[in-house]
Amino acid sequence: MLPDSTRQIIEQNDVIIGDGRFSILGMRVVAIPLNIVLVLQKHFTDKHGRKASQVFYTAGRLQGRLSLATQLKLQNLPRDTLSLTRLLKISELFGYGALEIRECDREEGEAIFENSASPMCRQYVKLFGCDGSDAGCYMRGFCAGLIECLFGVHAEARETECAAKGTNGCRVVVRAKPGAGAQRRREDRLFNRIMEAFSPDRNLLSRQTAASKQLIAHGQISFRNGWFLAMSIPGVLFSVEVFAALVHLLDQAFGREVHDVLYQLGRCQTRMGGRAIMSRFEFNKATFLKSYVQQAELQGLGLARIDSIDWEKKVFCLEQTRNNLAAKHVELFGVEPAPVDSYTCGMAAGVGSLLFEIDGAGVETECIAAGSARCYYRVAAGEAGRRRLLLNPGLLREALSAQALLPAR
Ligand SMILES: [Zn+2]
Repeated sequence: MLPDSTRQIIEQNDVIIGDGRFSILGMRVVAIPLNIVLVLQKHFTDKHGRKASQVFYTAGRLQGRLSLATQLKLQNLPRDTLSLTRLLKISELFGYGALEIRECDREEGEAIFENSASPMCRQYVKLFGCDGSDAGCYMRGFCAGLIECLFGVHAEARETECAAKGTNGCRVVVRAKPGAGAQRRREDRLFNRIMEAFSPDRNLLSRQTAASKQLIAHGQISFRNGWFLAMSIPGVLFSVEVFAALVHLLDQAFGREVHDVLYQLGRCQTRMGGRAIMSRFEFNKATFLKSYVQQAELQGLGLARIDSIDWEKKVFCLEQTRNNLAAKHVELFGVEPAPVDSYTCGMAAGVGSLLFEIDGAGVETECIAAGSARCYYRVAAGEAGRRRLLLNPGLLREALSAQALLPAR
């Protein structure tokens, strides 16, 4: 199954990576390590409860609606159950597991999905145990979004079985729901903005395709039974629009907290991952730097370039001439007074820390989302730490080291 599906992806050009972009079926995506997504979700739902899981649910719903709406359009398919069944391939490519539709009754306005291997729910229980939280909120939203697009209605989804609650798989029941409150209308407006900002990436240049074929053929990224793996680490894909919206919605609901959390996640992830890569492949610092810069492209985050390294003063500067999230943020929400890509800033801080063997702190001095032509990050030791470290360091280390131990299938 694996070689076939991977070969198919290569042959059909379903996945294209190059020039700082990562596209699947014409949708531009970012790849975020699975455990990073789960720690982010866990932090917010533990602290803010239902209000937070609702944000992840909304993001999932936006992704479901966007995925189906754009694919029906791009592949010129009718809006019916058969098309949805065909397009559930999206969930597999995105690392959402093997989502299948069991029942779909337009008259009754009801549909049932099953996911025998939702990586998000399965990994959640491995990391945090059965903590009774709404672990599948994003996937639940994704199913609701698919049905909303298919039936052209408002719908709500509930998870009647969940791998994070001890069952074998997840089962989601989606029901059409008449009427829409103020919250719902706000989300519809956001979705319309996302659709307006969406431009298909179907026709990237063939030289970029050659590069992505090589990446897949060499196993640097792979798709296996509903899991997405980058350098053997499981990841979750979001369309750039949806990830930008998720950060924005968390920011609106809970203040700058999301930026502090993403910074800490990026920094810790890079320090731990970088250390592991250096020892595993016996990389020296120069080789590590090169692989790190490629990594930004592999994640679909944009194009990164080392601007300067001052070994004496222990200062490291990174420049991004392309930052997909910041650019999309401006398109969707306008120019911001403050930088928005704290995840990349955290990763830069992690790189600086590894290079100089210090506790490095990063600052985003310029940001495309704040009106600059580039994003610019400066990392130095002892630089006034403007960030609040909100995540429990023990939990964070545990969650991030667990991802290296995952089996490859
Ligand atoms: Zn679940």
